[in-house]
Amino acid sequence: PEVAALVASRVLDVPDFPVPGVLFKDLMPLFADGAVFREVTDRIVAHHGRDSFDVVVGIEARGFVVAAAVAYATGVGVVPVRKAGKLPRAAHSASYALEYGEATLQVHTDAFTAGHRVLVVDDVLATGGTAGATLDLVERAGGTVAGFTVLLELAFLGGRDRLAPRPVHALLTV
Ligand code: IMP
Repeated sequence: PEVAALVASRVLDVPDFPVPGVLFKDLMPLFADGAVFREVTDRIVAHHGRDSFDVVVGIEARGFVVAAAVAYATGVGVVPVRKAGKLPRAAHSASYALEYGEATLQVHTDAFTAGHRVLVVDDVLATGGTAGATLDLVERAGGTVAGFTVLLELAFLGGRDRLAPRPVHALLTV
């Protein structure tokens, strides 16, 4: 599909970042291109349908950029899922394993109105640890996951399988 080619045209491969041996996918050129960023945002909204969610969650930090665009396009609000220690009030925490050690994400306990349908967005799906923790947080905070979309899915890292049976939508899968 053409949106996949559009995303592919605005991703840069960065070898050995953040550590040797990792090929980092840099989506900054996509965010910096106004026409492409707008098209990508509109495609996300069109895929899910603008009446299918009540609020959008962005995962720190690049997910915030996507979430804000989707929110503005549809008139819903944004809820941030943040790295541990950044939120000022009572929060739920979810930890997940990294290659070395673990990471923790948080969301405010009062972030969602009960039963609100939550669209979760991020830039890249890799192993799925980040997304899995985020979807758990949404449910623990009283939201209902309406969908999960990323701009780029790195299929060889198995994130989609890890998140199953929850559906994953990716504009580009490599
Ligand atoms: P996961 O938890 O392994 O799925 O990693 C996904 C999270 O790490 C997302 O929040 C991404 O922003 C970030 N991430 C992992 N790999 C990349 C990459 O190659 N480019 C950009 N972000 C990445």
